[in-house]
Amino acid sequence: MTARSVFSILLLYAVLPLVSCSDYGLKVKKIDDQFYLILGEGGNSGVLFSDSAVLVIDTKVKTGAERMRRWIDDRAGKKKIYIINTHIHKDHTAGNHLYSNPDIIAGDYGNMFWNAVNSREDLPNHWLSDTMTLRIGDELVFIHNIGQAHSFNDVIVYLPKRKVLFTGDVVLNKVHPFLDEHVGANVDNYLTAIDDMLFTYAPKIVVPGHGDPGDKSTIIEFKNYLMDMREAANNPDLEAQMQEKYLDWMSLPINKAGFEQTLQYIRNSSSLRE
Ligand SMILES: [Zn+2]
Repeated sequence: MTARSVFSILLLYAVLPLVSCSDYGLKVKKIDDQFYLILGEGGNSGVLFSDSAVLVIDTKVKTGAERMRRWIDDRAGKKKIYIINTHIHKDHTAGNHLYSNPDIIAGDYGNMFWNAVNSREDLPNHWLSDTMTLRIGDELVFIHNIGQAHSFNDVIVYLPKRKVLFTGDVVLNKVHPFLDEHVGANVDNYLTAIDDMLFTYAPKIVVPGHGDPGDKSTIIEFKNYLMDMREAANNPDLEAQMQEKYLDWMSLPINKAGFEQTLQYIRNSSSLRE
């Protein structure tokens, strides 16, 4: 073998992502033997196993949803499935129907609203208007309808033993939010919900709806983004400065979210109030 081919092989290993075949190409982050984060391909997900049940937080969309269901099947067999949807957008819910007889918990949208906005096959069977707990193995999972922010009924999930908080799309990590008036997105309410979150929980790991997992500073950074954007929406002199500050943020989906879209959304909603 020539030095050049050895170099090529080394280069290949350096470039290939370290994903095992049994992970179906999913970006799996193991926190401990019972608890995993599965990132991207729709919203970020969490999977918590006990001897008798599995909790899935957000079920992704399209092939990501299918591959995550296969990944869970390989490990869970016939265990009881609980699903929590952090909100009504399909990138977090479109895998619901892939599981057999799940209990599906979502914020209190009700059947009519859900069916008008999302698909019937993914319809939850428990509407949560305030809070509930769910025992999964060693964890007493706390599920909290934090009210209207990214949508009319955003749900966040806290694992107190592990100190992990799933924020849904109420917090994103370096990603511009998709502000969708049909489901009730409201920037003032985002800020109220975020303050509530910061006051109530002491997470070590924060799993945002999109972007890398972080910690409490991820929540604070997103809060600052919303406040900056609200300022810039009311003061065009600040626009260029903010555009520069948030230059490396991603837009998801690319045509519906971004710097301009956030500014415009805030301007439209404040003109409605006047
Ligand atoms: Zn999302």
